[in-house]
Amino acid sequence: MSARAWKAVLDHLDEAAELAKLDGDVHRMLRTPRRLMEVSVPVRLDDGSVEVFTGWRVHHDTTRGPGKGGIRFHPDLDADEVKALAAMMTFKTALLDLPFGGAKGGVRCDPRRLSLNELERVTRRFTYEISPILGPEADIPAPDVNTDGRVMAWLMDTLSMVQGRTLPGSVTGKPLSIGGTRNHSGATSAGCLDCARAAFRELGMSLVGSRAVLQGFGKVGGPLAFLLSSAGMRVVAISDIGGAVYNEGGLDVGAVADHVAETGSVAGFGGGEPISADSIWDIECELLVPAALGGVIDTDVAERIRAQLIVEAANGPTRPEAQPVLDRRDIVVVPDILANAGGVTASYFEWAQAQQGYPWEDQVVAERLRQRMEHSFTAVWARAQTLGVGMRTAAHVVAVERVADAITARGLFP
Ligand code: NAD
Repeated sequence: MSARAWKAVLDHLDEAAELAKLDGDVHRMLRTPRRLMEVSVPVRLDDGSVEVFTGWRVHHDTTRGPGKGGIRFHPDLDADEVKALAAMMTFKTALLDLPFGGAKGGVRCDPRRLSLNELERVTRRFTYEISPILGPEADIPAPDVNTDGRVMAWLMDTLSMVQGRTLPGSVTGKPLSIGGTRNHSGATSAGCLDCARAAFRELGMSLVGSRAVLQGFGKVGGPLAFLLSSAGMRVVAISDIGGAVYNEGGLDVGAVADHVAETGSVAGFGGGEPISADSIWDIECELLVPAALGGVIDTDVAERIRAQLIVEAANGPTRPEAQPVLDRRDIVVVPDILANAGGVTASYFEWAQAQQGYPWEDQVVAERLRQRMEHSFTAVWARAQTLGVGMRTAAHVVAVERVADAITARGLFP
């Protein structure tokens, strides 16, 4: 990603700024992240040697509220990628009308090469280094690629130790035992289903009996496959890093999950035909869900796709140059900043409960999530119709306008 990802974010911003007739000063402010902190993270490894990792925390914009965004551990991470992901969070939180700004962070490291103790030391030292800009009213991290509830618990504990008081509102996606949300990633999948349902309704199509194809069967793709199948869809193909399976009549998602739990991949699942992971793009279906990596839909793939609707569960799965191909082919795309916003919305609810010191019932969380997703989808769909543009552009226009309104209302300091 890196430089390409940052350029893609700026391109989306510039296009939205033009359509929204954004004030030039506000536009320039949004083209520059508010704050970028780069830290060195020296950590003693189990063999006694010291390795010095590099980490970042970026606040892209904090006008609408504290920074919000995940922490990623990845060997290819760089400052441009963190900037791009932070800016996407500014637009995502604005689009869902959450009282947050956009932030992101991470450490350039390969967690597969670290022991559990080393991973904990990396997390704690990194947290300490960026602690001056974190806090429940300043910036609230969450899990992202290669981080989970356990890492969030270490993060919260480190911040709490530094400040000498327990800070449950300082991170989200933490374990239930310390105030986490049941099924944090499941909220992302539930939000994707809400978007698919709303888009099918607008397109005059029925979910029941329609075919879905998924790339990725992880924290998002796995629960989503269950939800789509429970909604009456035939999940005809699923791919993951190990391969892909196809069954025209619909895969038994529960049996696929059991197979993945045993073997680590959908490859070799007996209830369908093996196909190559790349051939999922050629399968005729009503719904295609990329739920794995960024940048997978390039212009070639965009020409091959035989779906009517794409719901982007992954962040940045469609390359900017592929979007015009999808538009020309009348393939409707629910963009990532809307489609996968269920996770950050659940994070907002988790933070609100921590700040109130009052947990909500599970049904209250589920109902409020569904309402937020529906309202946001409707706002984007309506704007796309009014402007005569695709949903990605419309989503950015809605988001950029909200951030711009907040910047204008607060005025410029000093
Ligand atoms: P995960 O690591 O749990 O799962 C990723 C899945 O993608 C796995 O099934 C993996 O095998 C598959 N995959 C990896 N490389 C592949 C390849 N080359 N071809 C096919 N499949 C491949 O990750 P996740 O949490 O499910 O996240 C998936 C995407 O959703 C990411 O882009 C992430 O940024 C985005 N996302 C996740 C959340 C969340 O709540 N977890 C929220 C918003 C966005």
